[in-house]
Amino acid sequence: MVRYDVAIVGGGPAGSATAITLARLGWRVLLADSTAPGRFRVGEGFPPSARSLLNDLGVLDGFLAAGHRRSYGNVSVWGSDEPHMDDFIFHTHGQGFQLDRAVFDSQLRAAARQLGVSVHESTRLSQTPDEDGFRLSLARDGQEQPAHCRWLIDAGGRPAVFARQQGAQRLSDDRWWRSTCCYTVRKVPTKMAGPWSRPSRTAGGTAYCCRRENDW
Ligand SMILES: Cc1cc2nc3c(=O)[nH]c(=O)nc-3n(C[C@H](O)[C@H](O)[C@H](O)COP(=O)(O)OP(=O)(O)OC[C@H]3O[C@@H](n4cnc5c(N)ncnc54)[C@H](O)[C@@H]3O)c2cc1C
Repeated sequence: MVRYDVAIVGGGPAGSATAITLARLGWRVLLADSTAPGRFRVGEGFPPSARSLLNDLGVLDGFLAAGHRRSYGNVSVWGSDEPHMDDFIFHTHGQGFQLDRAVFDSQLRAAARQLGVSVHESTRLSQTPDEDGFRLSLARDGQEQPAHCRWLIDAGGRPAVFARQQGAQRLSDDRWWRSTCCYTVRKVPTKMAGPWSRPSRTAGGTAYCCRRENDW
C-alpha cells in the first residue's frame, strides 16, 4: 500500500495550492479530485492582487501565457442598491482576468505533478481513521485502490464532506442562493460590451454577467 504524509481531498485552487506548498517542503502528497480533467466550470473573476499568490506558487508565467481573458474592472452591488465600480487601473498589480476555470485548475494540478505530487483525477477519495492517520480508498471507474496518509486535508469545496465527518459544523451561511447560466447571444447589448463583469437587477436579486468570448 502506498503511504503518503498527507492526502488532499479536492483538486480545486485550494487543494492544488496546498499540494504545491507541501511538496516544496518535501512532503509526500496525494491529491485527489472527483472531476474529470477539463470539465467545464463557470468562468470567474480573478482580481489583480491574486497575481502575487500565483507568483509565490511559481505558476504566474504559465498563467499569463494561458490566454485567460483580460478584465479591466468589476461593477458590483453588495449591501446597498448603489453599484460600486472597481477599475483595475487603480490597482498596483495591473489587469485582472476572467478565468477559464478548466484551464486554471489543470495548470495548478500540472504544477503540483511536476513537484512530485501524486495527482488522481476522476477519483473519489474516502477515508477511515486508524491509529496513525487515515486509511484511504481511491475509487475510479469502479476500481478501488488503497493508500494511507498521516494527515488529511479537506479542500473539497463547499460541501466539506470530510470536515463534517470529523465533526466540523457550519457556523454561518449566506442567505443568498446562487445559480449560473451560460447564454449564447447573437447581438450583445452595448451596456454589456467590454471586458468588465457587470451586475444587473432581477426580480429575485442581482445577476453578475460577463462575456465569454475573447473577441474585443
Ligand atoms: C457561480 C460562482 C461564481 C463564482 N465567482 C467567483 C469569482 O468571480 N471570483 C472568485 O474568486 N471566486 C468565485 N467563486 C468562488 C470560487 O469558485 C471558490 O471560492 C473556489 O472555487 C473555491 O476553491 P476550492 O479549491 O476551495 O474548492 P472547489 O473549486 O469547489 O474545488 C473542490 C474540488 O473538490 C472535489 N471534491 C469534493 N469532494 C471530493 C472527494 N470526496 N474526492 C475527490 N474530490 C472531491 C470537487 O469535485 C471539486 O473539484 C464563485 C463560485 C461560484 C459557485
